[in-house]
Amino acid sequence: MPLFCKQCKGRRVPIFQEKENISLWLCEKCKNFVDEKDFIVREQTDQERQEAERKLKEFEETSNFPSEKLVRRKGVN
Ligand SMILES: [Zn+2]
Repeated sequence: MPLFCKQCKGRRVPIFQEKENISLWLCEKCKNFVDEKDFIVREQTDQERQEAERKLKEFEETSNFPSEKLVRRKGVN
């Protein structure tokens, strides 16, 4: 699996592509997608980058806020 980028040796993340119904691997540094054969399919578009940033922001906001609720007392089921 193309988990690490050949160009920058960075870690890639699998991004599901709804259109193609497959997952492509994205290097966030090089901004390109490769398929499972480590073949560069295309570059990340500005729209996709913004979407990823938005999702990350959302994730950070939702994971920061309810953190107190998620903390469970020890010994209590
Ligand atoms: Zn890279």
